[in-house]
Amino acid sequence: MLVDAHLHLDAPAFDADRDAVIARATAAGVGLMVSAGTSLDGSRRTLALAERHPAVRAAVGVHPDAVDRVDDTWLDALRALARHPRVVAIGEVGLDYARSRVPRPAQQEAFRAQVRLAVREGLPVVVHDREAHEDVERILRDEGATRVVCHCFSGPPDLAARWAEAGWMLSFAGPLTFASAGALRDAARRVPADRLLVETDAPYLAPVPRRGRRCEPVLIVHTLRALAEARDVRYDILEAIIERNARAVFGGEEWER
Ligand SMILES: [Zn+2]
Repeated sequence: MLVDAHLHLDAPAFDADRDAVIARATAAGVGLMVSAGTSLDGSRRTLALAERHPAVRAAVGVHPDAVDRVDDTWLDALRALARHPRVVAIGEVGLDYARSRVPRPAQQEAFRAQVRLAVREGLPVVVHDREAHEDVERILRDEGATRVVCHCFSGPPDLAARWAEAGWMLSFAGPLTFASAGALRDAARRVPADRLLVETDAPYLAPVPRRGRRCEPVLIVHTLRALAEARDVRYDILEAIIERNARAVFGGEEWER
């Protein structure tokens, strides 16, 4: 079973053909898609998709870009969503020092609150980190988060090794297939097998050979192949390892195959 550990099926880019996108992925063997909200509304839409599609599970959370647009009750609302049985994680949450216009203290406060919520609710946290490695790590460690998915890992090889050592999962996305991504492939080689995930982050970050176009979950095969080549392991063996890792971190040991 193929796993897409992180994508955004609620994105407007899928409005015209969302069900067909999901059906294409399912037909190709993608048995689990962890679709992440980036706002409260987006999390609700994502959860509705997870209720309708057996292979789709939801992560609920508010992305660092959106944490300045919440009201006073947002954490209570998020907690209520988090208790739904189709929710497998809190995410996508984190820190973005590269592109976000939201001030860093506000990002940090909202990230910490959502990590704390995840720990209390017994859920993993799906983390967005853009040029904020140190603060992300500090907050996760402060809050005692052990079930962590570092989505679209973009750090150097040493960081990959350290975060894997902490027990966190490192999820690699389309950039792993880019010719220029030698350092990222080095990082992927430093991660023990039981800490690896792959994702499409669809509709963003399409892998080669679809780079620059809309990404969709069926394209996970390209990223998985690049990871298998980087680590010199057989594709089908890596596929099974990643399924096991996904079940371990998202709590789905008992899910139907
Ligand atoms: Zn994402």
